[in-house]
Amino acid sequence: MRIDMSGRVETAWEGGWVSECAYCMIAPNPSPLTNVGTNTWIVSPPGSKGCVVVDPGPRDSGHVRRILSFCRAEEKRIAGILLTHVHLDHAPAAEELSSLTGAPVYSHAGGNVKEGKLSIPGFDMDVEVVLLFGHSSDSVGYLIEREGLFLTGDVLFAHSSTMVCWPDGSLEQYLASLDVIAGLVDVGRVSRLLTGHGKTIDDPATRVAQCRRHRLKRLRQVVSAVRSGVPAKADRIVDVIYNDVDSALLQAAERSVNAQLRYAFDRGLLEEHT
Ligand SMILES: [Zn+2]
Repeated sequence: MRIDMSGRVETAWEGGWVSECAYCMIAPNPSPLTNVGTNTWIVSPPGSKGCVVVDPGPRDSGHVRRILSFCRAEEKRIAGILLTHVHLDHAPAAEELSSLTGAPVYSHAGGNVKEGKLSIPGFDMDVEVVLLFGHSSDSVGYLIEREGLFLTGDVLFAHSSTMVCWPDGSLEQYLASLDVIAGLVDVGRVSRLLTGHGKTIDDPATRVAQCRRHRLKRLRQVVSAVRSGVPAKADRIVDVIYNDVDSALLQAAERSVNAQLRYAFDRGLLEEHT
């Protein structure tokens, strides 16, 4: 529990039911990068026998057992295992869960998740795949039209900014993905983001705008640091502009700075000396 500056009590995110259809079970992998752990989402309409599990998490048999016993207690059969991306904190448990249940694994990296409607036999809800590259080159979001829910993996968090995992990730793609999310919110198709870590984002328009501002501010800082003589090297730039960041996150900050440098070079904001 934490008390914020206005005296409000903030409790830690504990997962659980967030809507009629979506339940979050937190994997036991807390860290500075994963917050209290990876969110494993179990989605199923009430009264339906089929469910999907989104991001079963790191290799952890105990967590897989908890997912299975939850589904048994709810009398749901796992029709599919969906991955928002294949990072180690999201995807490895898919193999064990799939071999225990026979449920197929869906992922962009695996080649069976493409932009547009995703039909999952045994799961009777419309799911649309939206490409959200940038955090990684395989990041996708799953849009559950029925409740305006959008499972967005590591593209945005309520509690902090995410990492653009250069060289696999790209700032240009990341900013484009923020536009895509903002567009879906704008037309009323998305009202809530179910994220890969931490609590849900219930005011996505505001959060997307904040994250965009934050990214562009960091980009301006990187560009002006280099223009003022700091070498265009991630570690040197991090020393100068990320002095407010927890030391456990410095490696992540370096990756993000490399992504910003790439963007600045490509856009001609900085000159690349090779
Ligand atoms: Zn993650």
